[in-house]
Amino acid sequence: MDLDHHNFELTELMERIRTSDHRLIALQLPEGLKMQALEMMDEIETETSAKVVLAADPCYGACDLVHDKMKNMGVEMVAHMGHSQMNIESGMPTLFINVTYDGDPELTPVIPFLENHLAMAKNRILDQQKTNELSTEDAQEKFLDAVGRLSPLTGTKLGLVGAIQHLHLLPEFQVRLEKAGYDVVIPLGGARLSFPGQVLGCNYSGDQDDIGHYLFLGSGDFHPIGLVLHTGKPLAMLDPYSGEAKEMSLLSVERILRQRFGLIMACDNAQVFGILIGEKPGQMRRTLALRMKRMLEKHGKKGYLMALEHVSPELIDFYPVDAFVNTACPRIAIDDAVRYKKPLLTPFELEVVLGEKQWELGYQFDEIP
Ligand code: SF4
Repeated sequence: MDLDHHNFELTELMERIRTSDHRLIALQLPEGLKMQALEMMDEIETETSAKVVLAADPCYGACDLVHDKMKNMGVEMVAHMGHSQMNIESGMPTLFINVTYDGDPELTPVIPFLENHLAMAKNRILDQQKTNELSTEDAQEKFLDAVGRLSPLTGTKLGLVGAIQHLHLLPEFQVRLEKAGYDVVIPLGGARLSFPGQVLGCNYSGDQDDIGHYLFLGSGDFHPIGLVLHTGKPLAMLDPYSGEAKEMSLLSVERILRQRFGLIMACDNAQVFGILIGEKPGQMRRTLALRMKRMLEKHGKKGYLMALEHVSPELIDFYPVDAFVNTACPRIAIDDAVRYKKPLLTPFELEVVLGEKQWELGYQFDEIP
């Protein structure tokens, strides 16, 4: 990560520490910023009278806020950096600190992808009109979106989204893209998201039926994979760090879907399941886990509820179960599947195993609302 061009907004934090006369605060950073942690701790301790304790456990999102354990340590406030507030309560006063990146990439490299994707969206609308005359099965054969759903598409707008450190670029990019002839919308998501155009690895709730394709400002495949699995729509990516453009290839999505189907098939005769419940405040889906347990029992199978803070192979692989269903971070099953000896399913995939949902009607991404 290019740390020289990141802006860490520490002024508000130091002001808050001074006015509240805090003595001990916790600093929580995403993995990519941890190299800067000690420098920031020095700055805060020099500029204020507070001492700083680093929350050194892994942190991958605002779902993972420092909670009661730090309260027991005497921490009065948590400074959480690089993620935005979610619809969760951690039980600790928390200040969210923005981190922005000042790179401003050229639009030109991404235009060929956008042109191609706009044409795909237009074709999909035409196909949709034709499939109104087909049976559902025949229409499904045509795989109307990238994950095989007959989901409605009412327009061909370009959805403009980004990773949190690049969201400040979106209004300016909207203007540039509109000048280039695109009908652009910056989607507004649900309560788990704080800003227009924001996406998380587990939440793409801003998607709307009149968006035909997407442009993502950010780096890496993490958000793009989730966005395509959730929406089934073509996605171009423009990386503000390198200025490079590419697309989320449909082959990659197909590869993931094939892997998911393989795991579902591998659970055909599974009788005993471990049902994972995340203990992190923004990953805890107790009701969903209990629903999975009841569903397994209805089908004559056994489900053991297992609560844990971090999900990892060494913490679960040894249990004498046939497979796991994960109700914690949805991306663990999708992104880390190969690290586990036993199949690790999402709740939707378990429903397919049990015949409650049909794979043939398309893939359903496991979103946390
Ligand atoms: S994708 Fe996972 S780690 Fe990221 S915010 Fe969602 S639950 Fe948290």
